[in-house]
Amino acid sequence: MAPLRDRAAEAALFLDYDGTLAPIVADPVGARPLLGVPELLAALGDRLGVVAVVSGRPVAYLEGALGRPPRVHLAGLYGMEEIGGDGRLRRDAAAEEWRDAVGDATASLLRGLPPGVEVEPKGLAVTVHWRRAPRAAATARAAAAAAAARTGLVAQPGRMSIELRPPVPADKGTVVLRLGTGHAVVGCFGDDVGDVPAFDAVSALGRAGATTVIVAVADLESPPEVIARADVVVQGPVEAVALLRAIAAG
Ligand SMILES: [Mg+2]
Repeated sequence: MAPLRDRAAEAALFLDYDGTLAPIVADPVGARPLLGVPELLAALGDRLGVVAVVSGRPVAYLEGALGRPPRVHLAGLYGMEEIGGDGRLRRDAAAEEWRDAVGDATASLLRGLPPGVEVEPKGLAVTVHWRRAPRAAATARAAAAAAAARTGLVAQPGRMSIELRPPVPADKGTVVLRLGTGHAVVGCFGDDVGDVPAFDAVSALGRAGATTVIVAVADLESPPEVIARADVVVQGPVEAVALLRAIAAG
């Protein structure tokens, strides 16, 4: 972490939410950040050039969980909607055109899935979770694939979940490139396959000359492609937040 310590104001830091700042829990809507995370984000925002929480969650969910820490970007739905460091909300116009298709897919999934499989409507995306019904995984995957094929939405796999989202070029990597380009130091923390595009974008900025640090937040379910890209592996959100506290303290 020495590069971040020495060149804090030139640094851009990108943080996943679930599994990174908040423990993974069985109830997908119940993931709360670890104690003190909003204040920690504010301290990082004060110290670093750019701090962004980049998540598949809707931005309203991130705001409910974290508030609006000053100077911190909250990028929801993989950047399809974002509250900027100035507190202003912006949405991806191309993604907005798919709102009805998402509503259609959500309705069909709510009708067709077995007990225990949860459908999480997110506005511009919908996620199917089978953490509480692991034996229904194949059924849930098939239903999501059918809804994707019918509506033109794309399926993004996650941890015991699958998400259907508009086929627009928005992923965590586009957020990293948009906010991180031009920074001398770029860091990123994440735990899941949805973070791989962010890690790859950080690596691309590294090839262009930035000093980079990729931190995988590991647990027993960690996807190998996440661990394989990491410079540093920490165990779970507790260690991730401890490392972030060290960065904030300089
Ligand atoms: Mg995550």
